[in-house]
Amino acid sequence: MIKPAAGSLWVYHFAASSCSNCDMEILEIFTPGFDSERFGIKEALSIRHADCLLVTGVLNPKSLSLLKKVRGEAPRPVKVAAVGTCALDTGIFRGSYNVLKPLDKYIPVDLYIPGCPPTPEALLSGLLGLYGKDKPGPGKRRKGRWIF
Ligand code: SF4
Repeated sequence: MIKPAAGSLWVYHFAASSCSNCDMEILEIFTPGFDSERFGIKEALSIRHADCLLVTGVLNPKSLSLLKKVRGEAPRPVKVAAVGTCALDTGIFRGSYNVLKPLDKYIPVDLYIPGCPPTPEALLSGLLGLYGKDKPGPGKRRKGRWIF
């Protein structure tokens, strides 16, 4: 059973150029079915109120520039989570035109949550690990592949 962590974590969601499935799974954790607020995880409507930035989708030049701007507007350093295979390693869009490198080639990433899309359970588990015990989340890179 997952134990509630001390304090709370407000997360801001940035969709780089996702297909929207990862974004829907993120929304799912805020619904009554998963009820992330019982663990202190709440959606922040502005990066100025956030402790964590969730990034989904592949980056392109426009979305990268916007992401850097948004991250720069945070009043204090925020943890960054790469959500979904696209953010982790560009996934099925690898090698496509207008697709840049994976997220961690441009900004430091604290948490990797693999999946296409990741499940709400994986999202909750990763976020709880990120701020509750301050250790890496469920994703690990092994021989170039992402695993739980
Ligand atoms: S990881 Fe999969 S579900 Fe998420 S944005 Fe990419 S293609 Fe869509």
